[in-house]
Amino acid sequence: MKKKNTIPLIISSVAGAFAAVWIIFGLSNLNSAKRENAEVIETQAPVKNIIFLIGDGMGLVQVNAAMLSHAEPLAIERAQFVGLQKTYSATNKVTDSAASGTALATGTKTYNGAIGVGPDTARLTSVLEKAAAKGLSTGLVATYRITHATPAAFIGHVPHRDMEEQIATDFLKTDITLFIGGGRNQFEQRRDGQNLSDSLKAKGYQVVYTPEALDSIESGKVAALLADSHLPDILGGRDSLYLSTSTAKALDILSQNDNGFFLMIEGSMIDGGGHDNNIDKVIAEALDFDRAVAEAFDFADRHPGTLVVVTADHETGGLTLPENGNGVEYLFSTGNHTGSMVPVYSYGAYAGCFTGIMENTDIPTRMAELLGL
Ligand code: MG
Ligand code: ZN
Repeated sequence: MKKKNTIPLIISSVAGAFAAVWIIFGLSNLNSAKRENAEVIETQAPVKNIIFLIGDGMGLVQVNAAMLSHAEPLAIERAQFVGLQKTYSATNKVTDSAASGTALATGTKTYNGAIGVGPDTARLTSVLEKAAAKGLSTGLVATYRITHATPAAFIGHVPHRDMEEQIATDFLKTDITLFIGGGRNQFEQRRDGQNLSDSLKAKGYQVVYTPEALDSIESGKVAALLADSHLPDILGGRDSLYLSTSTAKALDILSQNDNGFFLMIEGSMIDGGGHDNNIDKVIAEALDFDRAVAEAFDFADRHPGTLVVVTADHETGGLTLPENGNGVEYLFSTGNHTGSMVPVYSYGAYAGCFTGIMENTDIPTRMAELLGL
């Protein structure tokens, strides 16, 4: 900001003929200098908002397959920096989404199956929880149940990912601003007979069950439980704008807080396409995720001080793209996860902090530092 303020000072202090000469001969230089300054100021603006997009199971080749299927460049290709992250967990060279989600949320590697707890099952604190405690707005958006491993790792603390009803109760223990996804049954059809949606309403949440009802909300705390379990996948009829529209709505609401926000958005079902060895599903879900990435990058363009990080929790399917005589073949080597490194794409304020070869745990650690948490 200091640099920006010196420009009018310099202009006002340079008088007479010198200024005229400068204006005539130096205008183009000044303009380019101003542009450079603007870029420096923008990249140096402190990080106020973080949008963290996780494509579950989205390795480099899944992104590559989506690119090959799409006539236009993907939004993800606008990334200003690219890095790689190592996904292994504390117990396995091949992680699951619980351990990798916990690593990406808390900065600690743990055992496969763990949600928000360390190898000793001790409670960890996620970057979302730290942000909420410091008065930032926070949000989670997913296409699976909101209590499923990846979003759960940012708010839940249970020894095993299957304890989803317990994870749902954890949504009442953090002052999260907004969450959008499936999983209504985990809140309302519970073995303990509790209706957590009533508890959410008592805490001031607007609880909604349809995209239309969500769309009508302009501000405040929101719990959008848009399916009993997971939403349908794209090939099964999910609205192809669900994730991008939900992202835009989340950004509208969260950005009303002058303290800034932390938002995690998951493309949950790229992973399912990998498990099913179904390339059409992988590509449809990856393209859907990419539309959410476009929303995030566009938001960062309009709001300096916004950092966007896009990555995966692990690769699923061992996908390769060999030549088969007539073109490319989409060849899966497994129905499970793999230990491949996955790409990290970054954009906006301090995006250059997410390059090189990283541990998955480096990502939330750097995010917390950048937000001053
Ligand atoms: Mg997931
Ligand atoms: Zn999986």
